[in-house]
This record gives sequence, structure tokens and C-alpha cells, in this order.
Amino acid sequence: MQGSATGLAYRGRTASIGFAHGPLVRVGADTNGERVAGNLAEEALALRAAIEAASGQIADLAGIAGGEAAQILEFQVALLEDEDFIQAIFASIGDGDPADVAWRSALDAQIADYNSAADEYLKARSSDLADLRDRVINILRGDGGPALEIPSGAVVCADDLPPSRFLEIDWSGGGGLALLRGSPTSHVAMLARARGIPMVVQLGAIPDVGANALLDGEGATLELDPSAEQVRLFEKRRESHRKSRASARAILRRPTASWRGERIKLFINIQRVDDLEHPDAQYADGIGLMRTEFLLTERGSLPDEETQFQAYDAVLRWADQRPVTIRTFDAGGDKPVAGFTLDGEANPFLGVRGLRLCLARPEIFAIQLRALARAAVRGNLKVMFPMVTSAAELEAGRKLFADVVQRLQADGIAAMLPELGIMVEVPAAALAITSFKTSFFSIGSNDLAQYVLACDRSNGALAPLMDPLHPAVLELIARTAEHGRRAAISVSLCGDMASDPRCLPALLNCGLRELSVNASALAQIKQTIDRLSSGGGLD
Ligand code: PEP
Ligand code: MG
Repeated sequence: MQGSATGLAYRGRTASIGFAHGPLVRVGADTNGERVAGNLAEEALALRAAIEAASGQIADLAGIAGGEAAQILEFQVALLEDEDFIQAIFASIGDGDPADVAWRSALDAQIADYNSAADEYLKARSSDLADLRDRVINILRGDGGPALEIPSGAVVCADDLPPSRFLEIDWSGGGGLALLRGSPTSHVAMLARARGIPMVVQLGAIPDVGANALLDGEGATLELDPSAEQVRLFEKRRESHRKSRASARAILRRPTASWRGERIKLFINIQRVDDLEHPDAQYADGIGLMRTEFLLTERGSLPDEETQFQAYDAVLRWADQRPVTIRTFDAGGDKPVAGFTLDGEANPFLGVRGLRLCLARPEIFAIQLRALARAAVRGNLKVMFPMVTSAAELEAGRKLFADVVQRLQADGIAAMLPELGIMVEVPAAALAITSFKTSFFSIGSNDLAQYVLACDRSNGALAPLMDPLHPAVLELIARTAEHGRRAAISVSLCGDMASDPRCLPALLNCGLRELSVNASALAQIKQTIDRLSSGGGLD
């Protein structure tokens, strides 16, 4: 939080880029009120009617929303149609539970199940279930009419918001979504992006004040009761965003970006193969970072060699000889994976994560290395290790990889050792950069900044301190770039700084000439380089 004499500013995480200036409307779940229960037969009838009404409401919403939104709602419909599940609730009513109590406890048990899943996708489903729970309870309480009265253009603030409540809001007049918790990977974030509704998540605790709000989905800020000056600056950012979006797409088609006559290579970061469907992805110079740990969390079980090989091969085929840098599993820290990461670490960001974990679990790591070694013969593959602290770890990883390649080749399977690099995201690695014998470096500024600044990257309360432009962070970036220049080793930066136009001048001045950005930021970054190159500043 940044308090100022003029208004309160909060920083969270961007889930959907865009700007909203409007009345602040707080939305709560409020389903804990009293309800007078009837006899057993009345309660069973009440629940039956509430389920039917909820099904009808959801079907209507799905009809209006269509597409992906309808698919999300299908999950809720499927549960309502699951006879075994519903029968068990009627059995509890038969045992004397009121309809709302029986319904709530059955849904709460399901929600707890989904919440405890390691898989982010399954976790995200728990908010769909909470939504369904609340919808039926509201109907049982006679409160099931049109739920939210939200003025056009409002900034909706909630702890979290389920997809169906998002769909009930009329966004045609603009507006935005500010969540105190929430996640950029949730369904509601996906819907917001698809509809161009700005959304900021993980804003943390916000006092119950504020009648007006500015939501900046680009800078991930929420400003309450802003002063005239805050509004002026906000409108300036909004206007510049609108203009640059409009002109950026033309620049995107130009073959290269350059700054002061030097070529700047722009790669993209992906988590999954699907991310390549982004319309701007085709204009990238290649893939600068594939975060493979998202393959681990997708299915709830560790993917086998063939599944991984197919994913890596699909990316290489898409890239068609452009370089593809795949990072080995960076599980641990804020990315726990059931059956892989350690439970109960007191300080997981400083724990057994990244390459440390892979070296501790060679049986899991070897499967990934086999898939990568097989993919390496199919395209321009580079592989990098995350969270490397010492040269000995790099060498241990390299040895495992070389052994895997040798075994594959001995079995007559096409495989090779790809170019090997490391992420520079632990301060010790940046400070001792000359000790790493590797063919490339990729700076992970997200982690580098958290470790240099001693700020947990997921702690919203530290957002104002978590400044990647802090001179200490820039010093380590510049040292790494300088070492790369002297030793003719390529150095890129793939943390979120690269996707932030405000950081570009500093990164270029640090000597970086390769950046890997989110596909949605590619146009804007290319355009910013163009402006800086022609002597223009940032807007
Ligand atoms: C980083 O730390 O900057 C990075 C790119 O990796 P991740 O955000 O996945 O930790
Ligand atoms: Mg990292």
C-alpha cells in the first residue's frame, strides 16, 4: 500500500490489462443468513426447486455468454446433474438436515477437495463450486433474483469473484475488476482478458473506504478516492495505452527491432503449448522461456516422457528453426507440485526448488531430460536450468543430461545434448557469473529482485519495495550482461521487467540486447524500442 495525502494506492498483480475509472462497488458472498426450515418433505422439495432454478439461471447465462464461458458453466451444470452427488444430499435431508445445511456441507466438502489439489486447474474449479453453492443457497433463502446491481463502468471490488457472477455483470459500459485475493490464472481472469476488462488480483487487505476508484490493469494498481492529480496521471497513462495499442500492431510486423543501430532480439515466454495461439506470438524471434513446471500441474500427475516429448516437439515445430529455450522444471517456492516438491519447508522460496529439487529427485528429472534430449534433434533447442546457485550444480545437471543422452543413443534412439544455459536469478550466481561454463544466460529478474531486495515476490504488502529498477538489481543485471559481452556468451532477460516498457531504457542501458516477454506485451515492447531508438522517450 502507498498512502498519500491525496488518496490511497494499492498494488497487486495484473490479470488483464486495461484501465477503469468509476464508482467503487464492493461485492461480497453473503450467504450466511438465517433461513427457517420446514419439515423433511418441504425441505426436499425446496432443494429440488432451488436446484432446478439454479440450472435454469446457469443455462440462461451460458446462452448469453457462449464460448469458453459456457464451457465453464457446464462444469456447474454437470454437478447439478450428478445423481449420486445429489442423492447423497437428499439422504442428509432425510436424516434431518435442513436443505441449506445439507447442500452447504456437501458443497463445502467438494470445495475443500478441489482446493487441496496441487493442480492449479483443479484449484481454480473450487471457485466455480463456491459460486454454485452460493447460488443455490441464495435461491433457498428467497434471494435468487438478479443478483448484482452494479452501475455501468464500476470498479468491482471483491475478495474473489466466481465466473458466473462476472458474467452477470453488464460490462458493456466498461469498468474493471479488483480482487483482494484471486489469481491471474483463474477462470474469471481468463474471461476478463477475453472481454478486455481490466483486472488486478492479489491486492491484499483494503480498508472499507472509497467511493471512487482508478484501476490500472497495466501498472496493477488500485487508487481509492483519487486526487485530481492522480486522475490526471491515470488518464495520461490510459490515453497512452490506447494510442500505443492502436499503432503497435503495425510495428509488430516489422522484421526486427533495433536500438542505436543494434539488433534487439525479442522472444516470448510461454507456459504451455496453447500459448502459441496468441495472435502476436508469430512475430517473436523465438521462445525465450518455456516454463515447463506448468506441464506438471496441468494433469494432477507427473507427465511421462512421451507426453513431455510431444509438448516440446510441438513448440519446436511451431518455431521452425527459430530458437526455443526450454527451462527444466522450476517447481517449489510458490509452485508446489504434489509428489515432487517437499512439504513443510519453513521458507520454500529459499528451499529445495528449481534445479536443487531436480538434482534431489533424479528419477523425475531424468524423464524430463530424456524428453528434451529426444526433442533436441528436432529443432533449434536450448535448455536452461533454473535457480542455479553454484557451478557444481550446473555441472551435476550437465552430467545427468550427458548420461541420459548416452543411454538413449546406446539404445539407438535419436537424441543429443542441446545447448545448455542457466537462469541468473540467485544473487550468488550473478556475482560469481564467471564461474559458470555455459553457452547462454537468461536473467530471471522476478526472483533476482526478490532475493536481492529481500521481498517475497508474492507478498502484495511489499509491492512498493519490490522495485526491479533498484540500483542493486540493475547492478547485477549489468554485470551479467557485461560478462556475456566480454566472453561472447548470449545473455537475455526473461523476467517480467522485460514486458514492462518502463524498465526498457534501464535494461538496454545495462547492455541487454535480448529480451523475452509475454506474447501480449510483444507489440508494446517492440514499439517502445522503436520510440527509444528514434530519440523519443517513454510516454
Ligand atoms: C524469473 O524469476 O524472473 C523468471 C523468469 O522465472 P519465474 O518467474 O518462473 O520464477
Ligand atoms: Mg524464477
